[in-house]
Amino acid sequence: MSTIFGKILRGEIPADIVYEDEQCIAFRDINAVAPMHVLVIPRREIARLDEMTEADEPLVGHLLRVATLVAKHEGYPDFRMVVNNGAGASQTVWHLHVHVIGGRSLSWPPG
Ligand code: AMP
Repeated sequence: MSTIFGKILRGEIPADIVYEDEQCIAFRDINAVAPMHVLVIPRREIARLDEMTEADEPLVGHLLRVATLVAKHEGYPDFRMVVNNGAGASQTVWHLHVHVIGGRSLSWPPG
């Protein structure tokens, strides 16, 4: 099932893309919760984190590595990554995405 992120991947709707390669793209969240709020998504349409298999471990690692490089490139050595998995965890778009957030003080525990 395609989502709004699938439309971004196919270039059907615009996005502020900050990075892309053969496995993933990263773009700014349309409703940023911090000065830096980027989403890193795989090109493959995977609905949620718990659909990943052992074979996907390199892809998961790649997403985290890209997210880290994006944060550093944006000038935020301190950052947070979030993956919401399921409606009860506030997932709203059913295409796996890593939130990369930084540029303000981030408290713990999260809401
Ligand atoms: P989640 O609640 O974890 O599923 O996060 C989905 C995120 O996608 C939210 O932070 C939204 O603001 C963001 N979002 C939804 N539509 C777009 C869009 N067209 N471009 C960029 N970000 C989007």
